[in-house]
Amino acid sequence: MSQINIGSAQIRSVLEMALTRRPIAYLAAEPALIEANRSWLAPHFLEEGDTWSLNFQTWVLQVDSKVVVVDPCTGNGRPHPIPQFDRLETPYIERFCATGVRPEDVDYVFCTHMHHDHCGWNTQLRDGRWVPTFPNARYLFVRREYERWDPNGADYRAVDYNDGVYERSIQPIVEAGLADLVMDRHRVTPSLEIEPAHGHTLGHAMLSLQSEAQEAYFTGDVFHHPLQLIRPELQFGDCDDLAQAIETRRRLVARGLEREALIIPAHLPFPHAGRLRRDGETLVFAPATGATGSQPD
Ligand SMILES: [Zn+2]
Repeated sequence: MSQINIGSAQIRSVLEMALTRRPIAYLAAEPALIEANRSWLAPHFLEEGDTWSLNFQTWVLQVDSKVVVVDPCTGNGRPHPIPQFDRLETPYIERFCATGVRPEDVDYVFCTHMHHDHCGWNTQLRDGRWVPTFPNARYLFVRREYERWDPNGADYRAVDYNDGVYERSIQPIVEAGLADLVMDRHRVTPSLEIEPAHGHTLGHAMLSLQSEAQEAYFTGDVFHHPLQLIRPELQFGDCDDLAQAIETRRRLVARGLEREALIIPAHLPFPHAGRLRRDGETLVFAPATGATGSQPD
């Protein structure tokens, strides 16, 4: 578990799993770009042998006397075409409880989008049924994203790596009466607002936090590796709308610089977050210095 503080908000991570030592070549960045940025990329975001690691983790926020869960990972016991995600059995709930928060204490669950690794623990399997993991929470689903994944929705398009996710992780929440379908922009608490960040998926959103004049953005999969902020055209993996994804990254860069905000994406390894700054002509994503803790395993 790692901890980050922003104003009066306490932010803790819950790790489900990590994919380590991926070749940075997956990003298709030219070698000169990697060299030009090596000084701040290494050691956290560029590891030995020019590799990088992705965490699959949830953020647990305590702010405004509320507990908010962001992006509850893949979940246990689910079939998946990619072997590393197939039928996971991780001690996620035990790690979650180690934050001092119990699942029944959670007030809101927010999924930046509905890929398998961002909404899985919405539910868990009990007596052969998928039931809500956070029984007292309101689950905030952005309507545009919901309609993109609802098999009866106009925007629905199947992708094999998300097979069955709607049925296991979204539909049971709706049937339990715990889902709130919200607009692209939605105020959650005085400090927290959902905002559109489309592209990676059609209804992808981020959560912005403002507390005591400090700002942080939970950006989900707007980018997977910080080089994509330096060069927004770099793409990693599949994406619903590449042009929108690039535009969203550009907007995030402009705002992150202007507001000196801490940017906390879904998948970065420790210290999990960073701030954009200009170093002469060069744009730098400086790793967060305030995070404590490390990987739990
Ligand atoms: Zn993801």
